[in-house]
Amino acid sequence: MTTATGVQLRERLANVEQRIEEACKAVGRDSESVTLITVTKFHPASLVRELAELGVRDVGENRHQEAQSKSAELADVDVRWHFIGQLQTKKARQAARYAHSIHSIDRIRLVEALRTAEVETPIDAFLQVNLTEDPARGGVPPKELEPLAESVLDCDTLRLRGVMAVAPLDEDPRPAFERLADYSARVQKLDPSANAISAGMSHDFREALEFGATHLRIGSAITGNRPDPK
Ligand SMILES: *Cc1c(COP(=O)(O)O)cnc(C)c1O
Repeated sequence: MTTATGVQLRERLANVEQRIEEACKAVGRDSESVTLITVTKFHPASLVRELAELGVRDVGENRHQEAQSKSAELADVDVRWHFIGQLQTKKARQAARYAHSIHSIDRIRLVEALRTAEVETPIDAFLQVNLTEDPARGGVPPKELEPLAESVLDCDTLRLRGVMAVAPLDEDPRPAFERLADYSARVQKLDPSANAISAGMSHDFREALEFGATHLRIGSAITGNRPDPK
């Protein structure tokens, strides 16, 4: 890569990969068990192409329309699209066309909408859990976790992978990630193979790795500051 931004991108990616490696070592985990999802929201499709040239295979998007148009534009690029944002029920079947994974399964109605989606292979499904008392923060309330998990297990177009959460901004992320590990254990009682934990962003992925995160969603530490959303 010859452009200045290309060099920076490569350096930031290498730096994050190095820090993941070190954080895994520090807690006795194998970094092979961790999937790095590079969050590319608000950035142009060309950035995803550059990332793919640097070896990135997993990218995250949080808005359906944007993800849909980028994935169409990049049909020739070998990346897996992870949908990580709030998903409207009426857009669910469309998202199923490009999404390899949906990390924001937070209600049974969404599962019902995905049940009739046309998929070649089942979509990897993560149950987003609300780690706060504030319903506006998104995610299923923990007390409704089991019925939601059961609905995914009963849905042929989805494959239950585990749980997902965003740590609250105004507290130490550790206790929040510890709660998430408990919720993960509850889901694994229903399906032992649903052992994935999607947690950890640019500022808290080390803490997430301490508490068992298997899927990190890292944006700005790799891409630099995001442009304003359009
Ligand atoms: C934007 C976003 C991220 C990445 O955030 P950074 O702080 O840029 O690493 C991760 N998860 C979700 C759900 C997001 O919306």
